[in-house]
Amino acid sequence: MDATTGIPPAVTEETEPFWTAAKEGRLLVEHCPACGAESFPPRGICRSCRARPTGFAEVTGRGEVYSLTVNHQRWLPGLEVPYAVVLVEFPGRPGVRVAGRLRGCPPEEVSVGMAVEVGFEPGPGGFAIPSFTAVR
Ligand SMILES: [Zn+2]
Repeated sequence: MDATTGIPPAVTEETEPFWTAAKEGRLLVEHCPACGAESFPPRGICRSCRARPTGFAEVTGRGEVYSLTVNHQRWLPGLEVPYAVVLVEFPGRPGVRVAGRLRGCPPEEVSVGMAVEVGFEPGPGGFAIPSFTAVR
């Protein structure tokens, strides 16, 4: 599937570092220098202590499927369905959950707790969109 069609993300001052890193294949989450809390997506204010400004931290390594849904609707011409959209948590990073399409795995084989790795694929407007692959 090619994800380059569709509506490009609305980039804000708070999310620009995330999109720039995504083009480099890196996943950034918001990190609060005052209390150390992390969160996603970036909002420019700490969800834990309300401090401004916030910074960023890079997430590396495997994540785990926290929740999932399977899309059966062909929203765009050429969209291959069905596919799973997963909400992923990362060990030692409470407060961070990232959603994305699961690639290379039939939706009926996805389960909560499954190990995944983040990757990026070309998206609309030249942006890189986070998605996940199953670790087998
Ligand atoms: Zn904070």
